[in-house]
Amino acid sequence: MHGTATITPSTALRTIPRDQHTISRKDISPNALRVLYRLRDAGFQAYLVGGAVRDLLVGGHPKDFDVATDATPEQVRQQFRNCRLIGRRFRLAHVVFGREIIEVATFRANVDDGSGDREMDNGRLVRDNVYGTVEDDAVRRDFTANALYYAIDDFSVRDYVGGFEDTMARRLKLIGDPEQRYREDPVRMLRAVRLAAKLNFEIDADTAAPIAPLAPLLAEAAPARLFEEILKLFLSGHSVASFEGLERFGLLKVLFPETAAALASNRSGALRRMVLAGLAGTDQRVANDEPVSPAFLFALLLWPAYCRALMGLQAQGVHAEEAQRRAADRVTLHQLNTVALPRRFSLPMQEIWLLQTRFGNRQRKRVMRLLSHPRFRAAFDFLVLRLAASPEHAEDVAFWREAQTQSGEELAVALGVAPAADAIIDEDAPPSKRRRRRRRRSTAASPE
Ligand code: ATP
Ligand code: MG
Repeated sequence: MHGTATITPSTALRTIPRDQHTISRKDISPNALRVLYRLRDAGFQAYLVGGAVRDLLVGGHPKDFDVATDATPEQVRQQFRNCRLIGRRFRLAHVVFGREIIEVATFRANVDDGSGDREMDNGRLVRDNVYGTVEDDAVRRDFTANALYYAIDDFSVRDYVGGFEDTMARRLKLIGDPEQRYREDPVRMLRAVRLAAKLNFEIDADTAAPIAPLAPLLAEAAPARLFEEILKLFLSGHSVASFEGLERFGLLKVLFPETAAALASNRSGALRRMVLAGLAGTDQRVANDEPVSPAFLFALLLWPAYCRALMGLQAQGVHAEEAQRRAADRVTLHQLNTVALPRRFSLPMQEIWLLQTRFGNRQRKRVMRLLSHPRFRAAFDFLVLRLAASPEHAEDVAFWREAQTQSGEELAVALGVAPAADAIIDEDAPPSKRRRRRRRRSTAASPE
C-alpha cells in the first residue's frame, strides 16, 4: 500500500434555503422521499445526493435517485424490509420498490487512515470503504455539481464545494486537484465529457486542461467499466455531442484507436459524416423513446476501422469474402483490448457488417433469403446510413426499401422472374436447406 498524501480541499458549508433553489418535492420520486423520511425519523441524517440534485437544479428529470446517510449499511437494512446490501468495493444498500431501486450509501471519506480499508495502487483508487462525515463524502465525489445535498429536514441544499454556483453557471469543475483526480480514476475524463454533453455544461478550464495529456491512462481502465461508460455516452440521447467531445479531448483515439486512425486518413470525411449521421439518428430514436441497440451502435463506431482493415486485406490480394470475415474478426479482437464488448453484441455487430455486401445481389433466391434474415432490418438501416457517406448506395436503398413492402409474388415480378409455383415455398423447405448446407461444406473443404 502506498501512503499517498491526499490534498483535501477546504470546505465551507453554504446552505441554500428552500426558497432560493428550484428543487421541489413533487419532482422527487415518492419512493426516494419515503426512504429519506424513514431514515430521518429513525434519527439519521438523510440527503438526496449526486446526479439527481444536479439534474433537478437545471430542470432535468433524474433517471435515478440516490440517497446519502450517516447510517451504516446494516443500520439502513434494519429500517427497510425491502432492502439488500450489495457491493464489495462499495458496500451499498438497495431499497427495492418494484422496478425502482433507491440506492442508499453511507457517507464515505477519501482519506487514508492507515486501516488498510483504502488502498492506492500507483495513485489509483482500488478500494475505499472508510466511513466519514458528510463533508468527507462531498469532497471525494468527482465534480462540484455532483456534490450537492438536498436535506429532507429543512428542504435546503447543502453545498461544501461551490457546486451550487457552478451548477447555476452550467460549469463542470472537478473537486480538488484535477490531475490527481484523473490519475486516481481515469474514467473521470469520460465522465467529464459525458456530463458536459448531457447537461450542456462547459468544462472548466482547469478541469479540461489535463484531459488530453492524461488521455492514455484511460487505456488501463477496466474494459467492462469502459463498455458501460460508452453505452452511457452514446445511448442516452446526446451521442453527437459526446462523440465531438471525445474527439476534441483526444479520448476517441484511446477508446477506439482503429476508428480514430481510419477517420484521420479518410480525407473526404465521408466516414465521419456517416458516423455522425448514425449518431444523430440514435439520438432521435432515444428522444422518441424508440429502442436502441449496442450491436448497431458498435457496428457504427467501428465501421471506419472495419473498412480500413478490409481495404488493407484486399490490397494484399485476399479474396473478398475471406477478407470481410478476417477484417470483422480482427477489428473485434483488437477493440477488446480496451473495451469489453460482450459476444452477444459483437456477433450481431459483425453480421450487420457482413450483410452489407449482400445488398448488391438481385438473384431472386438471394433476395428472399436476405429479407428473411433475422438481422435484415438492422443491416438495412445501416445501409441507409452509408448513403449519408456515399450516394452510390442510393439504388440499393431504393430497391430494398421497396422490397420490404412487397409480397413474394410482387417481388418475383419486379425481379423479372415468373412467379413459379414452387418458388416461394421452396425457400424454407428442407430440400433447399439441405442443398445450402452441402454447398457450404464443399466450400470449406476446398483449399484456399
Ligand atoms: P447520471 O445522470 O449519468 O447518472 P451521475 O452523476 O448520477 O450521472 P452516477 O454514475 O450515477 O452519475 O454517480 C452518482 C454520483 O456518484 C455522482 O453524482 C458523483 O457524486 C459520484 N461519482 C460517480 N462516479 C464517480 C467517480 N468516478 N469519482 C468520484 N465520484 C463519483
Ligand atoms: Mg446517477
